[in-house]
Amino acid sequence: MRTLHDLLHYFPRDYRDYASITPIAEVAQDGTVTVRGVITASRNIRLQGRQSLAHITVRDQTGTIGATFFGRGFLAETVFRKGTEVIVTGKVGNFKGPCLSNPEYEVLGGDEEDRLNTGRIVPVYPLVEGLTQRMLRRWVRDALDAVGAAIPECLPAALRKRLALSGVAQALPAAHFPDTLKEAETARGRFVFEELFLIQLEVLLRREQLTTAAPDRTGHIINGPHLRALDRLLAFPLTVAQERVISEILHDMAGPRPMLRLVQGDVGCGKTVVALHAVAAAADGGFQTAFMAPTEILAEQHALVLRGILEPLGLRVETLTRSTPEPAKARRRIASGETHVVIGTHTLFQEKTRFHRLGLAVIDEQHRFGVLQRALLAAKGQRPDLLQMSATPIPRTIALTLYGEMDLSVIDEMPPGRLPVKTRRVPSAKVPDLYRYLREQAELGFQSYIVCPLVDESETKTALTPLLRHFEEISTGPLVGVSVAMLHGRMDPAEKEAVMARFKSGDAKILFSTTVIEVGVDVAKATIMVIENAADFGLTQLHQLRGRVGRSAEPSFCFLLGEPRTPDGKRRLEALCASNSGFDIAEEDLKLRGPGEFHGLRQAGLGDLRIADLVRDARVIDLARREAQGLLKKNPGLKGRTLAPLAKALARHREATENCGMAGLEVTL
Ligand code: ADP
Ligand code: MG
Repeated sequence: MRTLHDLLHYFPRDYRDYASITPIAEVAQDGTVTVRGVITASRNIRLQGRQSLAHITVRDQTGTIGATFFGRGFLAETVFRKGTEVIVTGKVGNFKGPCLSNPEYEVLGGDEEDRLNTGRIVPVYPLVEGLTQRMLRRWVRDALDAVGAAIPECLPAALRKRLALSGVAQALPAAHFPDTLKEAETARGRFVFEELFLIQLEVLLRREQLTTAAPDRTGHIINGPHLRALDRLLAFPLTVAQERVISEILHDMAGPRPMLRLVQGDVGCGKTVVALHAVAAAADGGFQTAFMAPTEILAEQHALVLRGILEPLGLRVETLTRSTPEPAKARRRIASGETHVVIGTHTLFQEKTRFHRLGLAVIDEQHRFGVLQRALLAAKGQRPDLLQMSATPIPRTIALTLYGEMDLSVIDEMPPGRLPVKTRRVPSAKVPDLYRYLREQAELGFQSYIVCPLVDESETKTALTPLLRHFEEISTGPLVGVSVAMLHGRMDPAEKEAVMARFKSGDAKILFSTTVIEVGVDVAKATIMVIENAADFGLTQLHQLRGRVGRSAEPSFCFLLGEPRTPDGKRRLEALCASNSGFDIAEEDLKLRGPGEFHGLRQAGLGDLRIADLVRDARVIDLARREAQGLLKKNPGLKGRTLAPLAKALARHREATENCGMAGLEVTL
């Protein structure tokens, strides 16, 4: 908080109704009450150590009650003098008779107006260390008195009238010091709308900026030879959802503006082949594609798939990761245009990677990348088409906020013949049975993953020890004789690749792994996923892991091991057993974690919305979006006198989010 404006827009997170005063004689033994009376006794009681306690007795016409203020004995001498009239609100306890412990209090001077802490509906602010409710209430009251009336109205009058939103002059005091809870709710509604409206204006303006075509942009050629050949080469017919999303993508790519599209679809729905169509269309237009994946394993796997399909079409495919043997040579081929498609990790957006004619950037598992990283890659071309793919579907209203500048496609259909993965919890007594089952399945030719959360992969090799020991134990114990392999993030890339190849070929029947296999890995013959200490994983992550199986027409299983240590952990496992839908899982995850921690919202600067709540106010997001679109259509530059306060509020809002990822996009592009 730097200005009075900031202070006034620091909204209460809740209110307490301390307005109704109870006669002391009627105070019941438990519950919270507010009483009003005169102090008849006041003592500073020293406790052990340096602690002290103020104890007062308050009397009204009906009786007396005590109140204690722990750790604040000094108040007895400074504030609570005999004869002073007070209002106190607190929980009724017992300390030498009925007594309110650590109550809120207000010393009554002559001025009724000055009640901030009790005797009214009081605001409860979010606090940080060193701040108290009393301080904030005082400061906000003073700020309201000093400048409250001078805060300009940023919402256009016509809009406010149409949506029945209260004016700022009325809403500000009502949000902080309402006379009724209804009044507080009305005021809150206005500021929630204001906040979401500013975000949507911002997002839509950014979209406008990002999709403004570079002067030399030519749309891609659609239905050229590569694209047509691709469809002939595919081993399976596309699903209706895939067809639909591909046509949305091609429509964007043919157009005069750069594509900005996010494809969401549950794990296993077949996003890769959708992206391949975009790659082929880019190639038809004579453009290069950069295809970015979050891990080397995934990049290598994509390279395998893409090479198999694109090389017969005459396109040259290259990988560029940290372990590319001759990166300088690869970069030269990329810069000269000899390479058509580059698949890589973060290396793709390093300074030294230059493209000849980058026309398309595909970002797989986009939620694994920061906003800034995505922008850096996009900045490599003259506004290349941008296709992002995500397997963690998020509720639409949140997508409108977080990815509001992008168009959204959803693949809501699985390839035919897939059976839902059956998910079960396995109590520790049954684990030996599970191992026996894995062994039988291996003999029948089915493959399994065992995923272990033991290791912080960024740690040194010593952190691996427990994992290695565990692997040793089961591979020489219950699974002895079964062909097992192990994969972890600390292996060097050649080793990793060799292990993955062994598993893919079916040579290794059981892959013991850390979460490096979480994203994207595709081995159709694997039908069993065992997750150890499952409650230690987040819900979305569990769903991703489970998505590694169930990729064929064979029945698949996911077994969750370990006892949850927290109620949330238990709920996560229950939610996973209850549903196979990524959207359900995402909703549940959102409820469990709150929007701030969900899906990088905090990283995107949206975790700390001032007042709006992306779950509770989901409907307002839609409204704000529509209103923002309507306004920008009429007045794209927000020009003119009547909109000047709005433009100013927008600038202020932008400045407030300056240091977060969202703003990065703008700066970099
Ligand atoms: P994800 O959306 O999780 O990235 P993938 O693109 O890896 O999924 O696809 C998962 C598996 O489904 C792959 O083996 C892929 O070849 C296969 N697949 C994709 N589309 C179809 C389809 N229409 N019919 C049958 N199999 C498909
Ligand atoms: Mg994928």
